[in-house]
Amino acid sequence: MSIATAPSPSVALPGGRSDLVVVGAGIVGLAHAVEAVRRGLSVTVVERDRRPVGASVRNFGHCCITAQQGDLLTLAERSRTGWLDAAARAGLWAPEAGALVVARSATELAVLEELRDERGTDAVRLRTRDEVGDALGRPADERDDLVGGALLPADLRVDPREAAPRLAAWLAEQPGATVLWGTNVTGVEEGTVHTARGPVHGEQVLLCVGHDLDRLHPAEAEAHGIERCRLSMARIEAPAAFRTDAAILTATSMLRYDAFTATPSAARLRSEVVGHSPELLDVVANVMFTRLPDGTVLVGDSHAYDATEIPFQDEATSTLLLREAARVLGVSEVRVTERWQGVYASSPRGPLLVRDVAAGVRAISVTSGVGMTLSFGLAAATFDGALKVTA
Ligand SMILES: Cc1cc2nc3c(=O)[nH]c(=O)nc-3n(C[C@H](O)[C@H](O)[C@H](O)COP(=O)(O)OP(=O)(O)OC[C@H]3O[C@@H](n4cnc5c(N)ncnc54)[C@H](O)[C@@H]3O)c2cc1C
Repeated sequence: MSIATAPSPSVALPGGRSDLVVVGAGIVGLAHAVEAVRRGLSVTVVERDRRPVGASVRNFGHCCITAQQGDLLTLAERSRTGWLDAAARAGLWAPEAGALVVARSATELAVLEELRDERGTDAVRLRTRDEVGDALGRPADERDDLVGGALLPADLRVDPREAAPRLAAWLAEQPGATVLWGTNVTGVEEGTVHTARGPVHGEQVLLCVGHDLDRLHPAEAEAHGIERCRLSMARIEAPAAFRTDAAILTATSMLRYDAFTATPSAARLRSEVVGHSPELLDVVANVMFTRLPDGTVLVGDSHAYDATEIPFQDEATSTLLLREAARVLGVSEVRVTERWQGVYASSPRGPLLVRDVAAGVRAISVTSGVGMTLSFGLAAATFDGALKVTA
């Protein structure tokens, strides 16, 4: 029997010892590698796939800064600076376009007003019905369902399909930096990362493998309650008049992010959504969308949690999300060009896993849907020794 396969380009392991070995070329690993280079360290990134294909390329490309609370807000604000710096170095598309939260009821607007009262008018800029309608590209006589909204100008946008691959390509060009694709890591110990191609050596090792930490260090992953969160996503052709680069958030987003859920009107908003759209809560929807530089729009999402994700996508969930996005855009239907399933690490115990799994080996996984937002802030905090490590 002979089975034809395409030849893989060979991968030469570096002979020496890097200051840092990063396992995983998603945004968390790459942000740490970029930060290492910025601080003059040598770094080797080891990635099992031939290009980034994980959560970091399947998301909205929304650095959701203002909607974070507490320690995460501090990390997110730091991350914003890191993203802009990395974007300038690597030539990434990263418009400071903010996020526009659309309010379609008085309660939704009340949540935004309360957040404005807490954060101030620079951070949360209330918008009128017509300003929101203009941003969505809706005709002036088709805005009756809109009440108003808020622009969160600190939020950033990136193209998730471009950011990680381009950062990796930029890294590979830097002196002292190496990216090893197609190199599966099978185990890690102090100073050595064992791969299917042989050992890679480093003074320090960071495991940035997201939910797949349960494959390398199951006990550590289980101690943090890591599971896989599965999200239904689609790409649509944009209605011609929809041109904003701001991320668009809606009522279900306000039920999800901590800055909104901490407002006094959040509980009333949940009851309201239970009343008019229980089906959105059944799929744990966060109806939001972002426009890519080519004009197409990423639409999502739903959330389903399990240790191992179900591979099958429910068409009813996808239809529900697309219908809701069409309503916000003010169009009767949208044309889908792609669908996919996103998977990210999640945990009921908190949004970050930071654990030392061996001497000189630290695992860092974002266990909530905010890894794009936090990545560069986490990286800076790691090198400053400012990350809280779970014992
Ligand atoms: C649909 C969707 C929408 C989202 N929207 C947003 C958003 O708008 N804003 C936001 O902030 N966040 C968002 N997120 C969350 C965000 O995408 C993730 O938190 C983030 O990408 C996690 O980055 P990561 O590097 O840890 O994971 P990944 O991108 O999954 O990277 C992990 C890498 O590790 C590699 N790896 C695993 N095991 C091994 C091994 N043994 N050897 C070598 N390599 C290995 C994998 O191949 C992978 O490339 C979203 C996620 C999804 C799925």
